[in-house]
Amino acid sequence: MTGIYVHLPFCPYICPYCDFAKWPHKESAARRYMDALSDEIDAAAADGGEHTVFLGGGTPNTYASDEIAGLLARIASKFPAACPPEVTIEVNPELVTADALKAYAAAGVTRLSIGVQSFVETEIRTLGRRHDAAQVSAAVAAARSSGIDSVSLDLMFAVPGQTKESWRSSLETAIALAPDHVSAYGLTVEEGTPYADWRDREPRAFPDQDLEGDLYELAIDALETAGFEHYEISNFARPGHRCAHNANYWANGEYVGFGVGAASYGSGVRSTHTRDLDAYVSAASQGRKIPDQSERLEGAQRAGEAVMLALRTAQGLSFAAFKERYGLEFLEYYASIVEPYREAGLLEVDAAGARLTKRGRFVANDICATFITLP
Ligand code: SF4
Repeated sequence: MTGIYVHLPFCPYICPYCDFAKWPHKESAARRYMDALSDEIDAAAADGGEHTVFLGGGTPNTYASDEIAGLLARIASKFPAACPPEVTIEVNPELVTADALKAYAAAGVTRLSIGVQSFVETEIRTLGRRHDAAQVSAAVAAARSSGIDSVSLDLMFAVPGQTKESWRSSLETAIALAPDHVSAYGLTVEEGTPYADWRDREPRAFPDQDLEGDLYELAIDALETAGFEHYEISNFARPGHRCAHNANYWANGEYVGFGVGAASYGSGVRSTHTRDLDAYVSAASQGRKIPDQSERLEGAQRAGEAVMLALRTAQGLSFAAFKERYGLEFLEYYASIVEPYREAGLLEVDAAGARLTKRGRFVANDICATFITLP
């Protein structure tokens, strides 16, 4: 299966921590962009395999629902849907309307991913977001009556000013809304954002590593107790509601990205479209190659990427699948890395494979990075 990712980069406002390819919404720019995106999709080579579709951003629901429906029809005419189909759209809650959700469902959307981040007013404002808890509840209720199968809430921890109590309260409010899926990400301060300047000026405003670990543990405990399966470092699902699009990504599967800044991966080559909006629009609308950066992942680097992605998941890495795909005996090849982690209780190894222990999940990024750096 291949994932189709489509980037819709316009937002009603710009959040100070955001490092995505995004621009403030302007009608004329949004229209030109949709035309260019349509041209890029029309020019793509079709293939006969199954696909999941993910409309991400940016804020996809700055576009009218009929434009989203038109975009999905264009994608569907070229790429056959996975069976069962999974078509996700990310939305900002304050822009959600019941009519739009019904139109999405009619156009084939099966999954709604709502950017909540927090239910605590002061944290929502600190993050520069403009919704409130009532708008999230209304969006979830509207999604339920629209016929969309699966509702996911994005939450964020390690937000400046966040406490264990406030995070617990956001988790409890999220759980009370009975979503099918929750993503809980630790805030990463990216260089070049206003948050990076803030952290440089006032590092103590940001939670330290100990508090961040406690907040992550709180999320795992609260969500698992509520019946969610912790199936990836940052992702929790009720049975039958894992995100197939992202599961393909973690399985090191192939994906095709459309739009400014979108990434693709296929035949060992990873490429990322330019993040220059004008350069993207002009190339796509003139049928020229979209400027991009690409690299061929070979040998150890390709295998290391696969290990890094697989260890993010609850099932971890399968030795048999790894050997079949990369021709390597995992335990022999990575012995110098695996043993110390196993002895430290961070990695669990049995006859079939390796996976992070609960303690290992807290330092997942560090552990995963070591598999990439092995020459
Ligand atoms: S709404 Fe999302 S994509 Fe847009 S600026 Fe905020 S975090 Fe970034």
